[in-house]
Amino acid sequence: MIIGVLKEASPETRVSLTPEVTQALVKMGVQVWIAQGAGDSAFYPDAQYEAVGGKLVAPSALSEADILLTIHPENIPTTIKSNTILMGVFQPLFKAPLMKEWAGKGYTVFSLDTIPRSTRAQSMDVLSSQANIAGYKAVLLAASQYCRYFPMFMTAAGSIPPAKVVILGAGVAGLQAIATAKRLGAVIEVSDTRPAVKEEVMSLGAKFIEVEGAADASKAGGYAVEQTEEFQARQKARLAESVKKSDIIITTAQIPGRKAPVIITEEMVASMRPGSVIVDIAASTGGNVAGTKNNETVVVNGVTIIGNSNLAATAPADASKVYAKNVLNFLKLILDKDGNIALNFEDDIVKGTAIAHAGQIVNDRVATLLN
Ligand code: NAD
Repeated sequence: MIIGVLKEASPETRVSLTPEVTQALVKMGVQVWIAQGAGDSAFYPDAQYEAVGGKLVAPSALSEADILLTIHPENIPTTIKSNTILMGVFQPLFKAPLMKEWAGKGYTVFSLDTIPRSTRAQSMDVLSSQANIAGYKAVLLAASQYCRYFPMFMTAAGSIPPAKVVILGAGVAGLQAIATAKRLGAVIEVSDTRPAVKEEVMSLGAKFIEVEGAADASKAGGYAVEQTEEFQARQKARLAESVKKSDIIITTAQIPGRKAPVIITEEMVASMRPGSVIVDIAASTGGNVAGTKNNETVVVNGVTIIGNSNLAATAPADASKVYAKNVLNFLKLILDKDGNIALNFEDDIVKGTAIAHAGQIVNDRVATLLN
């Protein structure tokens, strides 16, 4: 059985499999074929894969693989076997037609961003492992762009107040952003639609911005849900006060398969003092800030708005390390002890992550979208 590792296209810097995980798979009896240079941008050179039993091949040779690993869907070559298993982060709710095309070609598709949010699946959750890095890097990026200090200083030349940081969304990225901003000495306020996160936010030393009446997301399998217009208006009114006083905003609020809610309006951005910085991690799905441009930095009235949803790629060595560990843990569910493919769709994680199999779309939400 051959597992093939594709080289991601620039500007992606991560790789879906590391030498460490290659070694684990080789020990299980699997052949691991790696596209030459696949790990270069993540600082895993070819020689490290070879040293642990991986085989370096030209990209065209990967069409022989039984399982193809990638991060982005755009890298999948068109000349692969009809029963190939594809694994990556395919955003199937945004790319339903591509999923249909792949189903038609007979591929079995596992999209790791749809993994169920259960305790057992935690070690395979690529959204969490990458969001953790994104939250950390968002704060570092904001701090390096900011024209003032983050921590409070009392110096002989005068005192410096601490930076005021507002964080929207206290999921994995948001919680890591709080912890990182706290370590840098900022004063932090946080908004989330899930009242359950209030305690976590407070235990990290931040203040929770209370807004009553959010839609209940407890039955959405760990993913956020859309809010009513009435709630959004109340949230905006409450946030306006905090935003006006803030120096830094980190936004992370996303809803799977939907456009991100615009929570920071143009007026709110205009109320911030020049030199303030906003990092919008939700940029790829439209952003939480009016004025965000995906993969661009714009300056509006002196406020810098950075639209970057792929901050994990700015720490490619660790991002790839944890991504590859997630992949290994998922592979263990679909391989038997001899390293052969053994798909068990009775397993809730295998079922929940499968998008296409045996010529059919097998994910209900994608099927509904296509109908
Ligand atoms: P996410 O990326 O889907 O969303 C980020 C945060 O934004 C969420 O906390 C969400 O409630 C919040 N949000 C959405 N709309 C908002 C709005 N209009 N205003 C303010 N905030 C808004 O979330 P995530 O980081 O993937 O995690 C969501 C939850 O799932 C967390 O509690 C996390 O711990 C949990 N989780 C569980 C597992 C698991 O058990 N395997 C894995 C990952 C995450």
